[in-house]
Amino acid sequence: MNVDELIAIDVHTHAEISCREPEDDYANEIEEQKKKYFKSGSPPTIQETCDYYRERKIGLVMFTVDTEFEIGRRRIPNEEVLDAAKANSDIMIAFGSVDPHKGKMGLREVRKLIDAGVGGFKFHPTCQGFYPNDRMAYPYYEAMAEAKLPVIFHSGHSGMGSGLRGGGGMRLKYSNPMHLDDVAADFPDMTIIIAHPSWPWQDEALSVCLHKPNVYIDLSGWSPKYFPPQLIHYANTQLKTKMLFGTDYPLITPERWMKDYEAAGFREEVKPLIMKLNAIKALGLDR
Ligand SMILES: [Zn+2]
Repeated sequence: MNVDELIAIDVHTHAEISCREPEDDYANEIEEQKKKYFKSGSPPTIQETCDYYRERKIGLVMFTVDTEFEIGRRRIPNEEVLDAAKANSDIMIAFGSVDPHKGKMGLREVRKLIDAGVGGFKFHPTCQGFYPNDRMAYPYYEAMAEAKLPVIFHSGHSGMGSGLRGGGGMRLKYSNPMHLDDVAADFPDMTIIIAHPSWPWQDEALSVCLHKPNVYIDLSGWSPKYFPPQLIHYANTQLKTKMLFGTDYPLITPERWMKDYEAAGFREEVKPLIMKLNAIKALGLDR
């Protein structure tokens, strides 16, 4: 990534459609609900996303989310995201996503992705149906920590399944960021990024981030207009080196996020940290 040329680094974007595999029409009610909840149209391809970010001089981290165990929907291949990152290495970093329920076979994939050059990994406790501090996931974390790669975890409420019968079978409890405190204590040298304002557990996220030097918070998934006041307060003060710009693209565009951010009460001197400098450290781009 050509960090010096970029005005910002977005640490949280999604690969939403594959150009290599036909769309899986399984669990369509969850997909339909997601589109309604997030008021999103048809998603861009990975290459379209890269072109869009390059035009705006914004770097991006992109990942698929492996929900094959909990939801049963076929994921976009990690390799497709990784190949795109290689073809767009000036602007893009690929994170891998492997469901820890896949056990040793999944661990082999984690190792393969590390060898192939992923820049980190993404987990979604609610969509993957596991507590982040479940020992089941620890061999995965060991491999990631050894490779010095950052790991991002969805936290808080999930738009996925919202309003569906039984929430589509998904459980919110897994995404309480307090479970990440165990992971941060047990893997003190692994960078952990708590994704999103963690509502209804915002204070838990701030506490873990304040307590554990290896924990960061990404500000994706919500317009800054709706950020809880304590999140902005800590971003301006004690946690100013731990907060990261992220959008959740394509659900929120960088334009929309940045416009609302300007008016949300962040101090001028912390803005460059949030937009780029903290990410350089969290993603290990300074190594
Ligand atoms: Zn996301």
